[in-house]
Amino acid sequence: MKRFAVLAFAVAGVCALQAQRPAAVDWNKLRPEILQHYRSLVQLDTTSGHETRAVDYLKKVLEGEGIPTQTFALNPARANLVARLKGNGSKRPLLILAHTDVVGVQREKWPVDPFGAVMKDGYIWGRGSKDDKPVLVANLMTMLLLKRSGVALDRDVIFLAESGEEADTEGVGINYMVRDHFADIDAEFAMTEGGGADIDNGRVTAVEIGTAEKIPARARLVAAGTAGHGSVPRLDNPLIHLGAAVEKAGRWETPMRLNETTRTYFEKMSGISTPERAAVYKALLDPKTAAGAQKFLRERLPAEYSMLRTSVVPTMLKAGVGANVIPSEAEATLDIRALPDENVQAFYAQLAKVIDDPAVRVEPIPQTRPASPASKLGTGMYQAMERAAKTIYPGATVIPSMSTGASDMAQLRAKGIQSYGIGPASTEADEINYPAHGDVERLAESSLYPFVQYVWTVVTEVAGH
Ligand SMILES: [Zn+2]
Repeated sequence: MKRFAVLAFAVAGVCALQAQRPAAVDWNKLRPEILQHYRSLVQLDTTSGHETRAVDYLKKVLEGEGIPTQTFALNPARANLVARLKGNGSKRPLLILAHTDVVGVQREKWPVDPFGAVMKDGYIWGRGSKDDKPVLVANLMTMLLLKRSGVALDRDVIFLAESGEEADTEGVGINYMVRDHFADIDAEFAMTEGGGADIDNGRVTAVEIGTAEKIPARARLVAAGTAGHGSVPRLDNPLIHLGAAVEKAGRWETPMRLNETTRTYFEKMSGISTPERAAVYKALLDPKTAAGAQKFLRERLPAEYSMLRTSVVPTMLKAGVGANVIPSEAEATLDIRALPDENVQAFYAQLAKVIDDPAVRVEPIPQTRPASPASKLGTGMYQAMERAAKTIYPGATVIPSMSTGASDMAQLRAKGIQSYGIGPASTEADEINYPAHGDVERLAESSLYPFVQYVWTVVTEVAGH
């Protein structure tokens, strides 16, 4: 696997850059530098509350090469950093961003120091090695290379290292930047985590570009009744009402609705899947056969089933104070993930109708992310990403994807920035056994270098004169 990826990277890199770029980059020569910055960043423990450690590092590196930086901090320990390379202003800026924070670790689960960036078996091991330090280092290297090569730019390239993506209860990261410093990051396009690439049998077969995400629109179901003694059955026992309501909500098959991203996703997937799977994807796209295909996904591929619709998943129950006490209230939490174009208020009303019980009310939980329309597939940015993917990962199919989770792109899309998700390549086994946020996280060294080259290629194509 490693050998192939390295070879593909070297060949593709030379061709693409010599053909189009004024300043060819010697990618083989850059590897030690890329690795050093990447490992240094993974070695910084930037769990929530310590993001300024990464900002200090980045500031030193960028300013060391003559790129001025600005720091914006609502909390001094959780700063954000912005650097801007000026273009001629003929096009609106391109924002490349990555979050600096990482989720916590349970040290006893790790075979190596989680902040050691240990190199073993062809991998770099460490918290943040996937989420999100590859994007951070790719963006950093792109800024350094733009500056060194003196590439003329049609648009400003803005680098943002942001805090608090994983846990932003204080609103120190993207929320703060969008609210108080939007002029410093406003752009036509943005690129950040939220995509990826799949390695199958030693080669990258698919590159996913994140173009949309669902909106968390959680709600509580609250059942009310009369409190009483457990020895006296009551028809208005809120647990009985809540139980029935949770079942109805959890089993509700909300309407299937494809958008530009998901339709293209399933079309493309049908072209690269096993015959059995391809038949399912094709059936999904035909209203006459969609029901059977949905059933298959519901049972076998719940993540793809969730891409078809606004999903309603009961996740918490709260009721009762004693075995012999009927409480006056019982409560369930629903993790509702709405399609980007869902009318959330109307959806809650529909949910109440499905539950159809006056003893149970639907209480919306305040949304943590704004509604974010899907980014378009036809933009120059998307096309450049598609071309770069095909250059760096020859033979790979490029697929737009809608995340069922949420990311900081929601805030950017809500402000009208067309935003696209990227990520380094992984095998399926690695995604399962060493995922972002998993007990142990690691990235193949052979995935790191082509990923940096991918980011550089996209940025120079979209922003270069
Ligand atoms: Zn992340």
